[in-house]
Amino acid sequence: MARGKKVIQELQTQGYGGANTWGGPQKVKYYAPDGSVRISIPGQLSDRNGIIYDRLILQGYSLSPPETPKPHCAGCGKWHDTKEEVKVCVKKRKVDTAKWDNWAKKHQGKGQDKEIKELKDEVSELKDLMKQLLEKK
Ligand SMILES: [Zn+2]
Repeated sequence: MARGKKVIQELQTQGYGGANTWGGPQKVKYYAPDGSVRISIPGQLSDRNGIIYDRLILQGYSLSPPETPKPHCAGCGKWHDTKEEVKVCVKKRKVDTAKWDNWAKKHQGKGQDKEIKELKDEVSELKDLMKQLLEKK
């Protein structure tokens, strides 16, 4: 995170490069940790101390190409130091997703069973009531 902090400090003292004198939002060239380029309008966030953060830089982008490009991870949408880490992360995601799916299916099933049981109970109560009413006649 030290590098990101440095970039933010540079932003605060120097501003973004190539300030647009024509007005309107100036697009800035960002570099993703994997070295890919993204042209975007800077989105700035400021905390309660008035320190300005750049949205993309907080996400890991920088204003200069990375010295050691990091692989992008399809699992979490971020970047890891090594491809091995990406593999592990993607795998973990799959396992987690499968777990959640299973959990959801189980609970959904249980919920339906419960509803059906409640309905059955209600129906038998109604039947009893009907019987009672008919017997009274
Ligand atoms: Zn990941």
